Amino acid sequence: MQSTMQDTPLSMAMLLRHGLDTYADSKVVTWLGESGRTSTYAEVGETAARLANALRRLGVGPGERAGTFQWNNAEHLAAYLGIPASGSVLHTLNIRLFPEQLAYTANHAEDKVLICDASIVPVLAKVLQEMKTVEHVLVVGGDADVREQLAGGSAQIHDFHEVVDAEEPTFAWDDKLDERSGASMCYTSGTTGNPKGVVYSHRSLFLHAMAGCMGSAFGISDRDRLLAIVPMFHASGWGMPFQGWLAGADLLMPDRFLQAEPLAKLIEQEKPTFSAAVPTVFNDLLRYVDEHKTDVSSLRTVVCGGAAVPLSLMKAWHERHNITLIQAWGMTETSPLAAIAHPPADAALDDWNWRSKTGRIFPAVECRVVSEDGVIQPNDGQAVGEFEVRGPWVTASYYQGDDPSKFSDDGWLRTGDVGFLDAKGFMQISDRSKDVIKSGGEWISSVDLENALMGHPDVMEAAVVAVPDERWSERPLASVVVRQGATVTADELREFLGSSVAKWQLPERWAFIESVPKTSVGKFDKKVIRARYAEGELEVVELESKLK
Ligand code: ADP
Repeated sequence: MQSTMQDTPLSMAMLLRHGLDTYADSKVVTWLGESGRTSTYAEVGETAARLANALRRLGVGPGERAGTFQWNNAEHLAAYLGIPASGSVLHTLNIRLFPEQLAYTANHAEDKVLICDASIVPVLAKVLQEMKTVEHVLVVGGDADVREQLAGGSAQIHDFHEVVDAEEPTFAWDDKLDERSGASMCYTSGTTGNPKGVVYSHRSLFLHAMAGCMGSAFGISDRDRLLAIVPMFHASGWGMPFQGWLAGADLLMPDRFLQAEPLAKLIEQEKPTFSAAVPTVFNDLLRYVDEHKTDVSSLRTVVCGGAAVPLSLMKAWHERHNITLIQAWGMTETSPLAAIAHPPADAALDDWNWRSKTGRIFPAVECRVVSEDGVIQPNDGQAVGEFEVRGPWVTASYYQGDDPSKFSDDGWLRTGDVGFLDAKGFMQISDRSKDVIKSGGEWISSVDLENALMGHPDVMEAAVVAVPDERWSERPLASVVVRQGATVTADELREFLGSSVAKWQLPERWAFIESVPKTSVGKFDKKVIRARYAEGELEVVELESKLK
């Protein structure tokens, strides 16, 4: 039987228009360091339309790519909405990638136009000549001297506002385009090998935005003010710009002011109700607000993910500031929201057993656990294997068919994350498959050791990696950043770990370091630690083994 329903394509044009028609007065605040610059949705929509006209004039047709090289701000949001709603494809370049990788992504995506914030022109200037397909760069802010830094190559350099302001303030947003066509693209941060491209469709972005607004996800509405800390160049800023726009929430954009002090000031002045970021951001912020009296009481919920969230961090925010940190899991390949750890209805918010789970699977996303020999495991909260996922906002391949080994023969995405699922759909990640420590045939979770270590009052950060061991093949090396003024020893830390970790898992090798190296998106960069160890650059304390 055929349904009687209308077949309306889900599109970014629909999303953009909904925000404009319904919430024209909602606000977008771009942080300037000490105060904010406020625009309305109507104003951002007008910039989006003018930009869409300008891009057509500059030769970016439907399906062709326009890239952004920007912080989170109102102009980036206009590009975020306007480029896909016009039928072209938005490519958000990760400004923190290594120069060669940056050029690689622009060439691979064949970006024709780039929009660049004046504050990061020097970063782009280093690689622009290597970007072979870029014909025009629109610089937001800055003066002729700033733009001059990009001159000398084949691309023409313009002032963003000059170009955009000369255009008509309306655009015939494309409602009829195929909802399965590409709307935006993002590259994985390439912790190994070249970055790989993921192309999101209009349909996938729209469905992901709706799912993100659900009460069992971010639970946002037009009563909210979202502090969008996750960079919009990283996994679509976890979809927050789209979810916020769909719900009519105010969007607070920190621009380049991502350090704890300006973020604390932003929170105090602009009073966000909701935010999301990787755990390191909320770890730094916690230290700041603990030391400097800051009113953070407007925040009800903060979603943390992208890396394992230490239980000690969740407890500290809960107990000291009455703020609920909820853990979530996802990847660039999953748009990224795929699981979120709201405790079940019959559990209290401070039921840490539930809160410490990685996440409960989102509707429409399916997840299975597959053992090393390819057998699908039961969802019994015990059987360990690699997570595989599928769903309408999970990628089915990489752009240009790169790395097909990441997809199973029956079309599931192999996540590279290892752990177990329980009967209520909660997943628990024990590690990334490449970070698991394989000691004498048994697996040690680096994440469990890190979590336990970060629960010690003198430990600010701790990263655990596998290092080669003659007898056990691999053993854990703990690299620890100690709080200023503290004098804790390796022996004391091992003893502390012994209260929650099995004896055979306790590290013998310890390094005290100044900070844990981070990737372009603020996660622990374990490959750097492994390399430093291999090169003999780490000063390692070796304790007597507790293994027989
Ligand atoms: P990259 O692989 O470059 O870091 P992503 O930002 O897409 O790119 O990272 C996705 C990965 O981040 C996941 O595969 C997983 O290993 C890790 N991750 C995300 N959320 C969590 C979480 N809550 N706990 C543990 N790991 C997580």
